[in-house]
Amino acid sequence: MASRDDRKILLSESEMPTQWYNIVPDLPAPPPPALHPGTLEPAGPADFEPLFPMALIMQEVSMDQYIDIPGEVLDVYRMWRPSPLYRARGLEKALDTPARIYYKYEGVSPAGSHKPNTAVPQAYYNKAEGITKLTTETGAGQWGTALAFACAIFDMTCEVWQVRSSYDQKPYRKAMIETFGGVIHPSPSDLTEAGRAILQANPASPGSLGIAISEAVEMAAPNPDVKYALGSVLNHVLMHQTIIGEEALLQLAMVEETPDVLVGCTGGGSNFGGLAFPFMREKMAGKMDPRVIAVEPAACPSLTKGVYAYDFGDTAGMTPLMKMHTLGHDFVPDPIHAGGLRYHGMAPLISHIYELGMMDAISINQTECFEAGVQFARTEGIVPAPEPTHALAGTIRQALEAKESGEERVILTALCGHGHLDMAAYDRYFSGDMVDYDFPEEKVQDAMNRIPSV
Ligand SMILES: *Cc1c(COP(=O)(O)O)cnc(C)c1O
Repeated sequence: MASRDDRKILLSESEMPTQWYNIVPDLPAPPPPALHPGTLEPAGPADFEPLFPMALIMQEVSMDQYIDIPGEVLDVYRMWRPSPLYRARGLEKALDTPARIYYKYEGVSPAGSHKPNTAVPQAYYNKAEGITKLTTETGAGQWGTALAFACAIFDMTCEVWQVRSSYDQKPYRKAMIETFGGVIHPSPSDLTEAGRAILQANPASPGSLGIAISEAVEMAAPNPDVKYALGSVLNHVLMHQTIIGEEALLQLAMVEETPDVLVGCTGGGSNFGGLAFPFMREKMAGKMDPRVIAVEPAACPSLTKGVYAYDFGDTAGMTPLMKMHTLGHDFVPDPIHAGGLRYHGMAPLISHIYELGMMDAISINQTECFEAGVQFARTEGIVPAPEPTHALAGTIRQALEAKESGEERVILTALCGHGHLDMAAYDRYFSGDMVDYDFPEEKVQDAMNRIPSV
């Protein structure tokens, strides 16, 4: 029998959920549609066809509450799933808090993060429709690694554009992507029109996820055998990640807990949505009432400081327009170490849910996050990736609040990846050279001037 005092709460392979959860049909209002960038009419399936296979396009617009996970995908998931739920007893003790802290650990996957949860089904559905090659962007390198792994499993080619600042900071991601058989370029590159235009304007551009997306999209769109894969932001990606929350619900039920607070970090919103959506379903059904908090970096605060508007998903303006919280599609964030959180926009679905008042958002500076990451490593033994240190900093704030008020708050967070290939960032932190960037007010204002008026 599992107990609350256990270090970890485990499901067996046969207890792994076999469906993804689609929150869209359960929402009190439907999310606004994506728009065709030329006509500004709602985009239809055909508008996405140059980039995605039909199975994923249908998932993107699905109104089914649940979608069966294909057997071949379940079989690959079982390499690392179900993932463990840990009780952070060491951290609780160090904080001297009456709160009970649980974390769902996705660092056990082949890439070391939650990204393979969607990379595997994306490769699977592309392969099923005869696609031989996938292109993509990557920030910190987690997504590129995950897609390279998934392509290796399904015998496909994978080509990755990595944001230049991360490419330089994290050389071992390149080696890992190549180990899985992928091809990787720093972005901006001179291989694409989008990349050449950026380099011409600024040869020293640190790159951004928006630029790398433009490059990967440009390479996929004209070729019928090549498609593009996105590691976050889209509805189907968030849906694939709900396996995290579905497992966590079962694991917490094993120790008769319901969370009072859910905390997750948000870059594009996929690990956060993956954890939170199944709990939001339970909340909408009146079965629990957790407060749901997204934590974003102070240097790239799309939810807390962006506008809710139609904008492009990429810098060059090639993607359909999505209504989301955005800092402007050509906003280039400061080179903080959480590369996975440096995206100008937020998932349209998370943005919509935020507008519906179903969740809160806060932003935290990177030094507070690394301090939390180090405290976590020293008490729990796992070195977190820079991205989830944001969730941990938010969790620690919650646990200290509970201490202040003497409450037995139950906190659930997503530890969405380990930081074994991000140690240069920890070096930076220890050397005292890590700086907090002020909110880049003027840069954001400038980029916002170029958000299309729809
Ligand atoms: C990609 C990534 C993120 C950011 O993406 P989301 O879609 O917001 O989850 C956060 N953490 C890790 C470890 C990542 O790899």
